[in-house]
Amino acid sequence: MQKKRIAILGSTGSIGTQALEVIEANQNRFEVEVLTAQNNADLLIEQSLKFKPNCVVITNENLYGKVKEALAHTDVKVFAGMKAVEEVVQMDTVDIVLTSMVGYAGLLPTIKAIEAGKNIALANKETLVVAGEIITKLAQEKGVNIYPVDSEHSAIFQCLVGEFHNPIEKIILTASGGPFRGKKQADLAQVTKAQALKHPNWVMGAKITIDSASLMNKGLEVIEAKWLFGVEPSQIDVVVHPQSIVHSLVQFQDGSMKAQMGLPDMKLPIQFALGFPDRLKSDFPRFDFTKYPSLTFEQPDTKTFRNLQLAFDAMAKGGNIPCIMNAANEIAVEAFLQDKIGFLQMSDLIETCMTKVAFITKPSIQDYIQTDEQTRIFAKEQLGS
Ligand code: MN
Repeated sequence: MQKKRIAILGSTGSIGTQALEVIEANQNRFEVEVLTAQNNADLLIEQSLKFKPNCVVITNENLYGKVKEALAHTDVKVFAGMKAVEEVVQMDTVDIVLTSMVGYAGLLPTIKAIEAGKNIALANKETLVVAGEIITKLAQEKGVNIYPVDSEHSAIFQCLVGEFHNPIEKIILTASGGPFRGKKQADLAQVTKAQALKHPNWVMGAKITIDSASLMNKGLEVIEAKWLFGVEPSQIDVVVHPQSIVHSLVQFQDGSMKAQMGLPDMKLPIQFALGFPDRLKSDFPRFDFTKYPSLTFEQPDTKTFRNLQLAFDAMAKGGNIPCIMNAANEIAVEAFLQDKIGFLQMSDLIETCMTKVAFITKPSIQDYIQTDEQTRIFAKEQLGS
């Protein structure tokens, strides 16, 4: 069998490192062709020595010398900078691109990869939030498949296998509720960075963990689902499910609902995306019903967790508003992680940006790039930095 040759964008992050574990356990199936990282040169070097990719990119150009020198005795080609990422994804020897970098930075490399006809294993949800319409249209034109890696979207995708021709009535995204489930605004005013970084069920990078605590992650996922599965905003519901066992559901037009379940482990959706259409054997821990006597479900509290409501609003308004929301959120999370603002001020900042940054009904890629820039500048001004 021909091995799938994989480019991992963001190989030193949480998804990237778990993807490498999946690849290592399935060496008869997968081969690492490209690795990219932003700042973690040490881990990128270690991964390169182990997996011997064709080439690597360190996007922080100051670290180029270090990586180049460490790999000088190998055949691994070393490049630096964001432009290099946009180029290596187009190489003939790449079969599938796993987009697991954080935030808006995923947008342009993903577009380049799709233009070059590469299938995408999409872990960078922000790409679809910012420019879902352009991305999905381009993928269709190029005959490119986008396989979701996000656990909820992988769940929906798994429920749709064998059903792709059947209309969806509703998509129901589950949310763990994060570390602050049940809290009210007054409690949230006091929460610390350390508390926000303690997710009950998932171990993830800092940005997505804060997004999970604020429910912005679910908001981004709602918009991601709209584009991935071509449904209307009114067809997407969110239900809080604190145990994170049911990863999401699809409701069909006959009223039947399908769910995908399992213990929370990102390696499963990563492996499903890379291995599709096959299910590969794995030794991931198995779910046991007797250890979870009750799986519970409740309404999300969008009055307290305003970010989820803001995301629904952004999706309804469309145009560049989701792009504005995303950029504002990235600045807000960064400021929260640097102790510059409190937890609730994140929503204030996002809402201000969504009302103040110029609205564009039908943005081009260039418009998105400008909107992202403008929003970041405006948001930083609001923070007085
Ligand atoms: Mn998710």
